[in-house]
Amino acid sequence: MKAAVIGLGTMGPGIAATLARAGHTVSTFDADAGQRAKAKAGFDIATTVLGHLGVAEQPHAAIAVAETLADCVAGADLAIENVSEKLDVKIKVFREIEAAVSKDCIIASDTSGIPITQIQEGIATPERVIGMHWSNPPHIIPMIEVIPGAKTAPKVTEAMTAIVKQIGHLPVLIKKDVPGFVENRVLYSIMRECVDLVEQGVIEPEALDTCVSWGIGYKLAVVGPMALLDMAGLDIYQAVSSYLNKELCTRTDTAPYVTEKTSQGKLGMKTGGGIFDYTPERIDALRAERAKKLVAVRKALQS
Ligand code: NAD
Repeated sequence: MKAAVIGLGTMGPGIAATLARAGHTVSTFDADAGQRAKAKAGFDIATTVLGHLGVAEQPHAAIAVAETLADCVAGADLAIENVSEKLDVKIKVFREIEAAVSKDCIIASDTSGIPITQIQEGIATPERVIGMHWSNPPHIIPMIEVIPGAKTAPKVTEAMTAIVKQIGHLPVLIKKDVPGFVENRVLYSIMRECVDLVEQGVIEPEALDTCVSWGIGYKLAVVGPMALLDMAGLDIYQAVSSYLNKELCTRTDTAPYVTEKTSQGKLGMKTGGGIFDYTPERIDALRAERAKKLVAVRKALQS
């Protein structure tokens, strides 16, 4: 298969490396020349991690970085849009892809939660459009949400499911094209409650991370939430949720705890500080430590 990856920011390089390792011919493009120049380093880092994960390597050509979107998608069987999370930008890119590929090319979006049906409304051939929502880092987290929009042809959903399996990831079919799909709806429910608990002074950020990572995250990696309900007992869930659900955060806007920091340019690791503070050395150390631990946990879970 020839695959094209459009957008080489956080997600693109790892996606390209995963597809190439599975034996596909991969071409990439980013509108920003600086991102194109950095791409090879990103492919190399992801490829090294795939090696540590023990992912089998099929013969493949070097990943190409094209100078234009049309060159990138020429002859593609699958084009993956991976640009900024804005509907108008995505529709513009989809139209450019549509104009440059054959009618059989599947066009996928890695949107984090824009309904695929909204993207379909903006283009001429919606039946070949589908959501392919990777999880960050895309070469390490082996799960991809597959989201058909209202007009996606069933054969496109089947083909996408087969592609995800072939590259060694687990396809998760989303039956209704709801905003945020499933992974981000669950994640953002957790984040809303966590931010609220810190904002209300119930707990310090570091202690919250310890509580959630060890008390919930570690367990959920082994026993998913639906299986956990059975493990704990549905009667327990009923008893606790009967008094607790009404206490949980239900705010519909973003908490001031976050908006005050973003308005001061405190965006997290990318600006050296957000909820926690970071030096450049600390950032490098954290990235290396997290990649190592994610590789070890994935290996343990797959054993
Ligand atoms: P990013 O901002 O890091 O990268 C986006 C890239 O798209 C940039 O390099 C930008 O130059 C490029 N771009 C913008 N307009 C373009 C155009 N018209 N043509 C070609 N390139 C263009 O974003 P990201 O974090 O890699 O996210 C990409 C997509 O994947 C988004 O839809 C995002 O919601 C989704 N996603 C992100 C994550 C994550 O954790 N970062 C996880 C899953 C899905």
